[in-house]
Amino acid sequence: MSNIPKIVILGAGYGGVLTALRLQKELNYNEADVTLVNKHDYHYFTTHLHMPAAGTDKTENARVSISKLIDEFKIDFVKSTVVQIRTQDKKVILEDGTLSYDYLVIGLGGEPETFGIPGMLEYAMNIRSINSVRLIREHIEYQFARFKREPHRTDYLTFVVGGAGFTGIEFVGELADRLPELCKQNDVDPSLVKLYNIEAAPTALPGFDPELVEYAMQVLTKKGVTFKIGCPIKECTPDGVIVGDNEEIKAATVIWAAGVRGNRLIEEAGIEVMRGRVKVDESLRAPGHENIYVVGDNSLMFNPEGRPYPPTAQIAMQQGVVCAHNLVASIRNQPLKKFEFKNKGTVASLGKGEAIGLAFGKKYKGGVAALLKKAIDIRYLYIIGGIPLVVKKGKFL
Ligand code: FAD
Ligand code: NAD
Repeated sequence: MSNIPKIVILGAGYGGVLTALRLQKELNYNEADVTLVNKHDYHYFTTHLHMPAAGTDKTENARVSISKLIDEFKIDFVKSTVVQIRTQDKKVILEDGTLSYDYLVIGLGGEPETFGIPGMLEYAMNIRSINSVRLIREHIEYQFARFKREPHRTDYLTFVVGGAGFTGIEFVGELADRLPELCKQNDVDPSLVKLYNIEAAPTALPGFDPELVEYAMQVLTKKGVTFKIGCPIKECTPDGVIVGDNEEIKAATVIWAAGVRGNRLIEEAGIEVMRGRVKVDESLRAPGHENIYVVGDNSLMFNPEGRPYPPTAQIAMQQGVVCAHNLVASIRNQPLKKFEFKNKGTVASLGKGEAIGLAFGKKYKGGVAALLKKAIDIRYLYIIGGIPLVVKKGKFL
């Protein structure tokens, strides 16, 4: 048996991939055995998923094979699903095997938070993975075909998006672009199509710059989105949703984009969590577990004012870099680095050629913001896969 420390990374999302890439750069030969485990043999760009979900881009553009990202001489990749984390004997149980670890990195990403709303788990769809967006896209297209056979069923042409956070807003922007195209392809009168974005809070994008929120709503309303603001969804049924004061909206398509929580496997492992997220220490370790690091949507960190940082790809990537540094430092018995989030801003797309953003202390909207969004996407491709990945997946047109 070798004495080389074993590092196991769970999840090849933004946090896991950045951790793996930095470890492969920073570790010396034979300094540690690193294994990356992921459900699929590809890494997907969650930040891109609203497009293939609406059908405005190909699924292929939202993913890359993991073997193209990592150096498999330095990192073992295991395509499998984690089913249990056993901290007491430092093991991870996979659907088809077991892995032992000395150090564990948990980066399994979030799960949809339904807040116990009846019917939401059963009847709504979520924008979470390549498989979930395939389903959404096919489902939407199928509704047009169904309507042609049953023209009295206008609920087939009613689309409800729950939550006007960034996911909901980005998705309705794309869907509003796609629906006219689907009407044309299927000879459907566009005036029969309804697209609702329903938000419980008194404003869309709660907490974001009000001027930019106003701009986003104007752009999206013009594209045909009907906003219902201050109107919580109370139930999801096979026929649609119940909102506000028991109003029923009949819709054959409900997309739930109203929040994320951490991963259930973590709470099942007995690690302390708040809504499935681990309140990590300043070095990104789970409380009471010096050998377990948590990154991305599975982690919970607070800003200097005591408010939780929103779970974003941006913070997950920065955590991955510090996590890798701290793993190497732990192995070398060196001091750990403190994680400090450097907020580079937020840019959200509103469909083709339109976006809003706050970055570098400035507000952006319209085409300039859309270009900024594209630059952010390209920067990410460059960070993980260099110029070849930018050329392959970066969309320049
Ligand atoms: P993820 O990226 O979710 O990756 C988790 C990985 O773990 C996945 O590969 C998954 O397959 C794998 N996995 C899960 N369970 C298992 C299991 N049991 N076994 C094995 N593998 C498993 N953030 C931004 O900063 N900017 C944006 O523009 C932005 N846009 C977004 C747009 C949309 C539509 C959505 C939904 C989110 C967006 N976000 C954005 C948020 C961002 O995508 C997440 O915060 C980010 O993906 C979190 O990264 P992560 O590494 O924690 O997990
Ligand atoms: P979110 O939690 O940010 O937003 C969910 C929205 O749903 C909230 O506005 C909430 O008030 C609303 N909501 C909750 N319950 C509801 C109900 N019963 N009925 C109607 N509305 C309800 O979730 P998200 O938008 O999925 O974003 C998740 C994370 O990903 C956030 O941190 C976000 O910043 C990030 N993200 C970033 C971008 C970007 O930067 N472009 C894009 C997408 C997501």
